[in-house]
Amino acid sequence: MRVTFRIDIAGDYTCERARVLSRRSEVTFEAGPGRRDVEPIVPDLDLHPHDESHAYRFCPRCGGGLTRRLLKASEPERLVCGACSFIFYLDPKIAVGTIIRSGTDRLVLVRRAIDPGYGKWVFPGGYVDRGETLTAAAIREAKEECGLDVRLDGLVNVYSYAGRSPVIVVYAATAVGGALCVDDECLETAEFAAETLPWDGLAFRSTHEGLRDFLAGLLHPLQP
Ligand SMILES: [Zn+2]
Repeated sequence: MRVTFRIDIAGDYTCERARVLSRRSEVTFEAGPGRRDVEPIVPDLDLHPHDESHAYRFCPRCGGGLTRRLLKASEPERLVCGACSFIFYLDPKIAVGTIIRSGTDRLVLVRRAIDPGYGKWVFPGGYVDRGETLTAAAIREAKEECGLDVRLDGLVNVYSYAGRSPVIVVYAATAVGGALCVDDECLETAEFAAETLPWDGLAFRSTHEGLRDFLAGLLHPLQP
């Protein structure tokens, strides 16, 4: 028996640099006589692709089958390879966002050209590459997404949500160069005075909470 599920993916994260190729995702599994051990892999409807730990079925080292095993009573089940015993730890995804104050003392937002959050506003941001510092990632993403060179002024806050893999680190910054432009992940960029921010059109919960905390004056010094 072959069954194909089609789902819509939605999630809370700042930017999908790896690209969600489509809002729709297919998961196919086969079961039948002799395959009763195969359980359907049914994605949760409201998870980001990085949250779909149940979608990983094969060992990244040797290609053996992964099974869920409780290794420590106090920890969640882990995916363990039946062939080489590799433990596939699924870590959080670290993202950065940057709330940029422009030369006209307004805040820079970009309107997303990709799902999730297509057509909605977010401050520039994206995933941190392995080995990259958080601050370097924040500066890089600001330049890539809206064309501005920025100076980081401080850390606003860090946002994480139960059941979600992204952890979003939000900085406050000032534009010091460059010119506003759009990249292929954005429909447009715009500057907003604080009182005209599009609260009903923000892409993510972390966007809303980051702007709220920034406007409340929350600011932590950067690590030296
Ligand atoms: Zn293996």
